[in-house]
Amino acid sequence: MTAPQISFEFFPPKNLEASFRLWDTVQVLAPLAPRFVSVTYGAGGTTRELTRDAVATLHKSSGLNVAAHLTCVQASREETLAIADSFALAGVTDIVALRGDPPQGAGHFTPHPGGFANSVELIQALAETGKFAIRVGAYPDIHPEAASAQADIDWLKAKLDAGADEALTQFFFEAETFFRFRDACAKAGIDKQITPGILPIENWKGARNFARRCGTHIPAWVEDAFDKATRDGREDLLATAICTELCSELIDGGVDKLHFYTLNRPELTRDVCHALGVTPRVALQNVA
Ligand code: FAD
Repeated sequence: MTAPQISFEFFPPKNLEASFRLWDTVQVLAPLAPRFVSVTYGAGGTTRELTRDAVATLHKSSGLNVAAHLTCVQASREETLAIADSFALAGVTDIVALRGDPPQGAGHFTPHPGGFANSVELIQALAETGKFAIRVGAYPDIHPEAASAQADIDWLKAKLDAGADEALTQFFFEAETFFRFRDACAKAGIDKQITPGILPIENWKGARNFARRCGTHIPAWVEDAFDKATRDGREDLLATAICTELCSELIDGGVDKLHFYTLNRPELTRDVCHALGVTPRVALQNVA
């Protein structure tokens, strides 16, 4: 099995303790030489300044290729593009461009009166600047707001045709889900990189709630296995085994890039990467 290329998602820290946790996460995962690391943008646009500061600091001090998430939520076009410009000024030219979700409890996405109406408009505007490499979200289990599976894929094609370079998927539990999606994308004429998003399950209850919120199908065998493992206090072992197995099946099916949702907890992601043959790359001069 050839070791895959990997990338990691972090979220911006909200306090000093969380800042240390993020830095620890970076220290543990950076030696695995990720393609890029990305920093999320809080739902409802809530972490605008934190995301900007976190990407700038990570870019300056980690030497990693950093991608900033950016959403259309609760901001005018000018404000959104000003944030993108602030990323570019800090040397960060990779953006994960999203429509975004509204603040919790606000129901459906409603565009800001002077804002981008949807992700395609945002992608077009970012692409027109010529400054950014653009990645977008994709949904192997179908986005809850999609009219149909085909409509979801047509919309993804529109996002890629608008100037995006790569799609990162929402997490899913079975490799077959990704393979079906990849085939349907190819059939729709999508020829850009589609990278599976992988969630190492640190906390089953949290992951299950998250999956339900974003429409990710939870197979019965996963529910059963975690229920038993939780009772036996062996959640960690099961999480590592399930995640490694999923990644191995994806690699066997031709996937060469994986994007890990780390939740700023690096151990499980690191263990899975090691099991897949992604090991630390230490420069000899740093060892001598
Ligand atoms: P879109 O793909 O634009 O829309 C979602 C779906 O709705 C589409 O797949 C399509 O089926 C349908 N749709 C929407 N508009 C139209 C239209 N005009 N015509 C037809 N169909 C339409 N959220 C955050 O708040 N912050 C983050 O940092 C963040 N990071 C993420 C990273 C990744 C890799 C992924 C997959 C998701 C992330 N999210 C984040 C969640 C994301 O904001 C939500 O899933 C949101 O509901 C959709 O955003 P999107 O850009 O994928 O939307």
